[in-house]
Amino acid sequence: MSDIQDLDRRHVWHPFTQAKTMAPPPVAVGGAGAYILTAEGERILDLVSSWWVNLHGHAHPAVAAAVAEQAARLEQVIFADFTHAPAARLASRLAGLLPGDLDRVFYSDDGSTAVEVALKISLQYFANRGDHRRRRLLAFEGAYHGDTVGAMSVGRSSGYFRAWEGLLFPVDLVPFPATWLDDAEVEAKEAAALAALDAALGDDVAALIIEPLIQGASGMRMCRPEFLRAVAERVKAAGVLLVFDEVMTGFGRTGGIFACTKAGVEPDLVCLSKGLTGGFLAMGATVARESIYQAFLGESIERAFLHGHSYTANPLGCAAGLASLDLLLAEECRLRIAGIEAVHRERVLSLMKAGWGRQPRLCGTVAAVEMGDGGYGSAAGARLKAFFRQRGMLLRPLGPVAYFLPPYCIETADLHRAWDTLEAAFRELA
Ligand SMILES: *Cc1c(COP(=O)(O)O)cnc(C)c1O
Repeated sequence: MSDIQDLDRRHVWHPFTQAKTMAPPPVAVGGAGAYILTAEGERILDLVSSWWVNLHGHAHPAVAAAVAEQAARLEQVIFADFTHAPAARLASRLAGLLPGDLDRVFYSDDGSTAVEVALKISLQYFANRGDHRRRRLLAFEGAYHGDTVGAMSVGRSSGYFRAWEGLLFPVDLVPFPATWLDDAEVEAKEAAALAALDAALGDDVAALIIEPLIQGASGMRMCRPEFLRAVAERVKAAGVLLVFDEVMTGFGRTGGIFACTKAGVEPDLVCLSKGLTGGFLAMGATVARESIYQAFLGESIERAFLHGHSYTANPLGCAAGLASLDLLLAEECRLRIAGIEAVHRERVLSLMKAGWGRQPRLCGTVAAVEMGDGGYGSAAGARLKAFFRQRGMLLRPLGPVAYFLPPYCIETADLHRAWDTLEAAFRELA
């Protein structure tokens, strides 16, 4: 055990980790492309984009330079009384990329706060308009929206929050029609979900929140764009706000710039984080329709949105966001994303032909397959993770679900090596 590992063992508390049974964590000292470099001299292929945040590779020089330049100029300024170029420019670029009049950007700290902000804006929006009946929130079964109390409440069925169940506020849940390749039941599942949605909608509902196209943390469960369009139609007809939690699906993950643009749906609020800064800094953003923003204007302070974080619109995060968007919108990145999807498709189809795994699915740069049964602590998942780790690759199965969600810069040969390793695991661990 190194000095750093010893200090870590004595003083650091890791997220989503049982410290008693974890091996001493490798000490990361650098990053290059899709690789994490360790103090022990290992190069570990990052197949999960470091918890889904990294887009263009670790320590990408263009983003690093933008952050360094901004840090030397202005590191942070109170955002209640000031604005600054990175925040204004990034907001304008996000508004330009999102559909319709999704033109107002509220900055926050991470994905959880981006979700809290969307929920609070939804409730206050109706109150500001004098509609005090619309207080109820709807969400999907299996959804995960973050770890703060409001986000936990709408993600209450994700399975992570048993210790705090009594604390969560009530939210009505609609079934999520999770689907996969060659799923014969998909239309029946969607019809049942839409019928349940119809029954749940009413003039006391303020908002429905959904992870569009992919429910991430509950196991890369996917739905069809057709389903999102049918949901949007019903939610709009009921006068309810539609919130897209694109914290994971945003910035190219699903093959489109956003899941909403890929599916052709115009939500009322969009939550962004993770890829927002290319994986460099913690930052969140909630983008609202201009018409929602207008309902917060008036003479009194009570009508305003009384919410904010110390580091709101941190200039370093905004500078990273701008640099990351430049890379994302370049032709080269579009081709790389399409290339990842093509490899995923070829390899998922050959897994199916070999009869390995269950419910194979893919969407853009995300591919997933079920290995066996069991929850988040699944033994199959733990064995698979160790199998990849022994071969210099970082995989973090969600329970029994193995998935690849690589940085867009991953080399084609490396991606094939990951799939070869998954096939070898099926042969050797079966
Ligand atoms: C990760 C995630 C969140 C929470 O984001 P944090 O930055 O971890 O707070 C919220 N929603 C979705 C869909 C996520 O994947």
